[in-house]
Amino acid sequence: MTLDTTGLDNRIFTAFSETSVRRYIFVHNLDTDVVRWSANAVEYFDLPGEYMSGFGKIWTPRIHPDDLCKFEQDINAVFSGIKKKHYAEYRVRNKNGNYVFVTCRGVILKGENGESDLFAGTLINHGIADFVDPVTGLYNHYKFLQTKKELMRAKQPMHIMLIGLNNFSDINFTYNFFFGNIILNQFATKIRNMLNESSTIFRMEGPRFAIISKCSTNAETSELYTRIQELAKHFTTDEDVAIPLTISGSAIQVTDFNLSEQSVYNYLSRAYADSKYKNHSELVFYDTSMQATYKDALVLLTALRQSIADNCEGFYLNFQPLINPDNNGIIGAEALLRYKDSNVGEVPPGKFIPLLEEDACFFDLGTWILREALTEGKSFLKYNPDLVIDVNLSYTQISQARFRDVLIEVLNETGFPVHNLCLELTESCRNLDIQLLREEVLFYKSLGIKVAMDDFGTGTSCLALLRDLPVDCLKLDQSFILNLPNNNVDEHIVDAFVQCAHKLKINVCLEGVENKFIRSLVEKYKVKMHQGYLYSRPVPLNKYLELLQNKYIVLA
Ligand code: C2E
Ligand code: CA
Ligand code: CA
Repeated sequence: MTLDTTGLDNRIFTAFSETSVRRYIFVHNLDTDVVRWSANAVEYFDLPGEYMSGFGKIWTPRIHPDDLCKFEQDINAVFSGIKKKHYAEYRVRNKNGNYVFVTCRGVILKGENGESDLFAGTLINHGIADFVDPVTGLYNHYKFLQTKKELMRAKQPMHIMLIGLNNFSDINFTYNFFFGNIILNQFATKIRNMLNESSTIFRMEGPRFAIISKCSTNAETSELYTRIQELAKHFTTDEDVAIPLTISGSAIQVTDFNLSEQSVYNYLSRAYADSKYKNHSELVFYDTSMQATYKDALVLLTALRQSIADNCEGFYLNFQPLINPDNNGIIGAEALLRYKDSNVGEVPPGKFIPLLEEDACFFDLGTWILREALTEGKSFLKYNPDLVIDVNLSYTQISQARFRDVLIEVLNETGFPVHNLCLELTESCRNLDIQLLREEVLFYKSLGIKVAMDDFGTGTSCLALLRDLPVDCLKLDQSFILNLPNNNVDEHIVDAFVQCAHKLKINVCLEGVENKFIRSLVEKYKVKMHQGYLYSRPVPLNKYLELLQNKYIVLA
């Protein structure tokens, strides 16, 4: 038998190490401090060689800082004899700089008759995808849900905080997606450095993070939020570029373990939305007194999800005429979603769309909206073959590659002529990478479909959008138009946008032409399209068909 420097039969080690790609073996001779790792681990983690001494110094810098303490505690417990076997799950960096999730098991084999003591075991590589976010190296949403579940089952009191960067889509647009990722990565690292050992940070959807703290008080949680707020405000990248950021956030103290695991996250998300939209980004602490209000939203969300699962029962479309302001002729319709449920009643879209838009089920609902709009829209074309039907698209649809197939399928199925369709890119679409969005827009246009930019003017980087996206129409956000009677700043903004669009040969639709006074204020802009309550509110299919019979809207 040939023994190698770790005291192990060479052939046995080689046989073991070559039989599995994802499972590595190691043997550590505790007398000589020489450790041997299987060749595939050496290659995967870019270790200095198969045989190494002083391995601790080689390995620990590769371990994710959040997991190092847990790893060291376990190893020390084994070496000091407190624990029999080493068992640790942690993240470790591979040769490409990505963290992979590993499970390591090891045991001390006492030497007999003068043989050395050995520490030997295996390390299983679970790869990047499952639990680790590749952008930040943090644990992802799935791991968050799993950790929360385990802690709740173990009845471990904790604080959970959800924080998110505001207007992050503007950063992606102003710079680019790649730079956005760098900011997320560096911001996450800076927060992680602020946390103590009993806290873990996770990357959630988009620019959001969750922190679970096992030993914290409400005051400490609020204080941490203030520190993160300050960090964001004065944020500077490692390359010294100052990017002032703002955050919104919510927190919950979990002491009631009878709460369902899903409720905890739902309450946290609702409180987060309150921070963002109602409380000027101050931390919103969820407490049980808010349960009644939030419960309504949860009941609604459950009803909506159920309806979508039931072939979108309860959803229907209204149509709002699009008008040629020169003669008040009807030149199209925007399809607008409505919802009515036997329990929750009629719900305005402003209430249910924000709840659903980030939900994966919106994809199926979006497909239903498209199919319904085109099926009903076909009957409009009998009155006027040039009518254009506008259908709103959201992030959840465009961001999925399969949406292209869905679009073609629905067009084939309904036989709706492509040039009569206009897809509106709503606000949420701005969360997409501009290059990706551009490719999608080019694809729709290659099919002959028109594209409109909806709610134009909200956000900060609209002119870059105009430059990069070959859209046919700009729908100026109605807030500018509704404000025209009160302030002349908006007048200049509308003026600038309209001129800019016309120079780029893009049509403009003014939304929110609510009354005759507003119409008189906007007449000078000479745009091709108006939309607003003055002409008609959104109406059901049969009412829209009645309007179409007259071809023109007669103003009272
Ligand atoms: P939006 O796409 O900007 O739709 C126009 C909204 O402006 C509609 O609100 C319409 O009723 C309202 N509106 C039209 N004229 C006037 C006016 O003169 N004055 C005022 N104050 N409002 C006017 P609605 O139907 O409540 O829809 C709200 C938002 O919900 C939509 O805004 C859109 O972002 C979203 N939404 C509606 N349907 C869909 C859909 O099918 N898909 C997606 N992704 N979003 C939808
Ligand atoms: Ca729209
Ligand atoms: Ca709009």
